Amino acid sequence: MARYRGPACRVCRRHGEKLMLKGARCFTPKCSVAQRHSPPGQHGTARRKVSEYSLQLKEKQKARHIYGVLERQFRRHFAEAERRPGLSGENLLQILETRLDNVVYRLGFADSRRQARQLVLHGHITLNGRLTNIPSCQVKSGDVIAWKEGSTKTVPYQLAVQEIESKVLPGWLSLDRGNMSGQVLSIPSREEIETTIDERLIVAFYSR
Ligand code: SF4
Repeated sequence: MARYRGPACRVCRRHGEKLMLKGARCFTPKCSVAQRHSPPGQHGTARRKVSEYSLQLKEKQKARHIYGVLERQFRRHFAEAERRPGLSGENLLQILETRLDNVVYRLGFADSRRQARQLVLHGHITLNGRLTNIPSCQVKSGDVIAWKEGSTKTVPYQLAVQEIESKVLPGWLSLDRGNMSGQVLSIPSREEIETTIDERLIVAFYSR
């Protein structure tokens, strides 16, 4: 399945909840979910029978949209989660959270995961001092994420500096606001991952 390039708000309306795909706009009254817009499509408001399968599929799609991951890569992440010891669902969320693009977003360098992905792809971000342009790259405990030296004159950097104070930093990351660099203190536990995703439904979906 190709990457979804349609309107982000449509995805939120389909899921009936805020998936925070558009950064600052998601906190404004302009948000489609806040305005209680109905689900998209001609039959958006029609009552449908909800099967167990559709619930599981919907949860998997929700996770894919939130983290901006394609189906094939999501399957790869799930296979890796199953290989690791412990609960597959929790492992999956850990893998998604420790993607470089997500860490850039969580550090407050970008307004949304989409923007964070762009920053990484366009070569603005370094990992342990080395330029890394792979959004799916997994970070480890102790890794340092920073802006490339030449990128400090760019508009996204200047905006990030202005807004960094208002961002909430998760406990598993630390941030040096002066240098605009962050460090992974530890791999997040399930409790530290703030999300509405029910990972057990995703495990059930792939275990059919
Ligand atoms: Fe979703 Fe953000 Fe659009 Fe609201 S503004 S519907 S949270 S993408």
